[in-house]
Amino acid sequence: MNRNHQKKKPWLWVPPWVVIGAVLVLAPIFFFLTVDSINRQKGNTIALLKEKGAALIRSFEAGARTGMMGMRWGGAQVQRLLSETAQQKDIAYILVTDAAGTILADSDPGNIGNPYGKHLDLKQISQSHSLHWREVYTGDGKKVFEVFRQFVPMRGRSGGHGAGRGSKMRSGDWCRGHMNPGNASDRGSQVIFVGLDMTSVEDAAGEDIRHSIFLGFIFLLIGFAGIVTLFMAQAYRSARTSFSRVKAFSDNLVENMPMGLIAIDQEERIASFNQTAEFMLGISGHEALGKGLPGILPRSFQDFFEGLKWESGPINRELKASLDHERTLPLEVIGTALTGEDGAPLGWVILFRDLTEIQHLKREVARSQRLASIGRLAAGVAHEIRNPLSSIKGFATYFKERYRDTPKDHQTAEIMIQEVERLNRVIGQLLEFARPMSIQRKATQLGDLIRHSLKMVEGDAKQKGVTLDMESDPHVETVQIDPDRIKQVLLNLYLNAMEAMEEGGNLSVAFLGMPTNHSIQITVSDTGPGIKPEDLPNLFDPYFTTKPSGTGLGLAIVHKIIESHEGEIQVESLVGEGTTITMVIPHALED
Ligand code: ADP
Ligand code: MG
Repeated sequence: MNRNHQKKKPWLWVPPWVVIGAVLVLAPIFFFLTVDSINRQKGNTIALLKEKGAALIRSFEAGARTGMMGMRWGGAQVQRLLSETAQQKDIAYILVTDAAGTILADSDPGNIGNPYGKHLDLKQISQSHSLHWREVYTGDGKKVFEVFRQFVPMRGRSGGHGAGRGSKMRSGDWCRGHMNPGNASDRGSQVIFVGLDMTSVEDAAGEDIRHSIFLGFIFLLIGFAGIVTLFMAQAYRSARTSFSRVKAFSDNLVENMPMGLIAIDQEERIASFNQTAEFMLGISGHEALGKGLPGILPRSFQDFFEGLKWESGPINRELKASLDHERTLPLEVIGTALTGEDGAPLGWVILFRDLTEIQHLKREVARSQRLASIGRLAAGVAHEIRNPLSSIKGFATYFKERYRDTPKDHQTAEIMIQEVERLNRVIGQLLEFARPMSIQRKATQLGDLIRHSLKMVEGDAKQKGVTLDMESDPHVETVQIDPDRIKQVLLNLYLNAMEAMEEGGNLSVAFLGMPTNHSIQITVSDTGPGIKPEDLPNLFDPYFTTKPSGTGLGLAIVHKIIESHEGEIQVESLVGEGTTITMVIPHALED
């Protein structure tokens, strides 16, 4: 079930390599961006803290300078200033050391005199103007951002953080003898350290990092969703394109297939009706689509469909569809129920093809087989009869001579001879029919041939009051046929026509060239009594005759000759109106 579902909408399914690929591409990008953002925030924090520390030092310097006016460094006033300043929130401590690292003043007065900044090059720091910073841990484990630089409580430091504007003062003046006694070169060589409590900054930075990571993760998700959506959109598009290509192909296939196709939906309405079905049944698709079967399709189709509804598998039948009152079409019909991929019923489909040609061929094959076996038998019998026949004829001739003086016996012998000759002729005809026939095509003036053949029956026709007509095609000159055989065909047909028209009538012959397929068409028509419909299928069978003295071989031979010319013969006859025999002989016209 699940698999089917996937099959139905393949674009909904994202292959694992897309997921893995998206993660592999996106993760490093977002990792880098997040780390970068965190670093930048950290940089900002440091800059901020440095700025804060520098400002504090400046303000402390300024305070120290104001204090300097009236008192000496190290007095209670200065220490108080230091302690008070250090009381400010976020300030862990402030201390001042000399260049050797001895604490001169400290917000915690208890530390005065202790060494500080062991690992720092305090001498160098106390001589330069630049601001330094570091992160240190206090004794109680608190992290402190420490900003330190040269401490210049007196005016006189040139440049440097805007503290030294105005008239110059010797920086060592205020402290000489107290803080730095007797060392003229170390004048002003003190370092001030400001420890800034980082807890709140750290908290804020932590918050920022979490925020950055969270944002990074969100962007990662959005990017991932974007890639997957893109992939799905692409897959959907290609699925749609291939679907419409497949649909166009199958529509075309249904329309142009050489079989009739009718699809019926679940409401038993016609859902599809292809061109071949339109052509075969003579119903237009517009008329049929969306309608129910009754009133549209022939009765036999409706019955077939009723049967189909109750069958689980496909069914195959031969049926005759009556198209209108006259025409019925033999059809082979195959029908089956249609189901969707999930087994849900969709409707039915009926395929059918015209069996007219196949049935005709089947009849032809059966007839040829019948003829072949009859021919073989007849040839054998004829051969056996011929030998005794010639001795009978010999005896009859003998008796005819012997009873020359007895007229009655003489006459009997004469009749015997005639009958034997007739029998011999019939057997000759039979043997000719049974022998395989070979024809020799020759360039023949067809008009002349027909005129000549008509001449041969002229006398007979006159006797019976039959008029003769001929219609020729002026464009046809010579044709490639076996002239003797075709004359035999014509004579046989004339004979039949004449025998049919005992009370007179008209016999007409016409020929017509068909240059498109190099054939000629010859028609022989009479105005005789016609042929009964039930006799029509048997006309070309050997020995089929309705005449008391007929041989039934005339039309069989005609058929055989036309067949040897690879031609076709057709009989149309209406009882009481007459008979028309049409022959088409291919490869008869020259290019
Ligand atoms: P036969 O002439 O010896 O009977 P054919 O093979 O020539 O044999 O003809 C077979 C039968 O076809 C005839 O017996 C006759 O019933 C019918 N037939 C042939 N041609 C005609 C025609 N022009 N008009 C009516 N019936 C015909
Ligand atoms: Mg005949």
